[in-house]
Amino acid sequence: MHVKFWGTRGSVPTPGRATEKFGGNTTCVEIVSQNHRLILDAGTGIRELGLVLAEEGPSASTLVFSHLHWDHIQGLPFFSPLFLKGFEITIYAPAQLKSPLKKVLNKQMAEDVFPVDFADLSADIRFETLAKGGITSGPFRITALPQEHPGGSWAYRVEADGRTVYYSTDNETDPDADAEVTAQQIEAYRGANLLVVDAQYTLTEYPSRRGWGHGVLEHVTKLATEAGVERVAITHHAPMRDDEELTALERRIRKSVPDLPLFFARDGLAVEV
Ligand SMILES: [Zn+2]
Ligand SMILES: [Zn+2]
Repeated sequence: MHVKFWGTRGSVPTPGRATEKFGGNTTCVEIVSQNHRLILDAGTGIRELGLVLAEEGPSASTLVFSHLHWDHIQGLPFFSPLFLKGFEITIYAPAQLKSPLKKVLNKQMAEDVFPVDFADLSADIRFETLAKGGITSGPFRITALPQEHPGGSWAYRVEADGRTVYYSTDNETDPDADAEVTAQQIEAYRGANLLVVDAQYTLTEYPSRRGWGHGVLEHVTKLATEAGVERVAITHHAPMRDDEELTALERRIRKSVPDLPLFFARDGLAVEV
């Protein structure tokens, strides 16, 4: 699988010189296998992906959302293929979603706030439901797993070519959780060749951010180590962290878990899984 990070920032875009190394686009990850394209979340990072796809000509994409908070949907109205004939986009909503996905996406393009109506888009757009047991899309086997986040969110286990990417953003991993919850999380990560995971807070920051629905760096890496994950990509970086702070954090956490290959994801970075 070819994995590319188009947006790695959490909560809100953070453009500017202080963030140019890691980037300022909100969450969007692309996975390509056997000429099939899976897009996870549509933060502002999806805009640049859209420009590349538009240039290449008509193609099909499958788009899946972890949840519908702004930083995961706000790039979609600027995703060029939506406006182009010949492009096919299949959008999956997890079965357990509280508001219908189509309604929420329509709302962010309502005429008071956006010039083009969702109904007037030229691409062939289909809405499907991602059943609890998972779906198969081209070479991808995609399984949704519920997570801890205000309003709910879903992790996705994506399997293709005998490899596994586990995508887990906006999930609160409480270091003080009971043993059963911790064991469940370790089991969920197990077998991942690449764990893409939100670890927005440090252990020191966490007590004042409890209940906000994000991961804790020291804890997530501990769980990943216990699960025997092959490689970890830390993402959904806190908007207040500049390049200097993220670089220092990456160095520090690598030292503390020397046996766990990990990196901090950055906009534009591509990795093979
Ligand atoms: Zn988020
Ligand atoms: Zn969220």
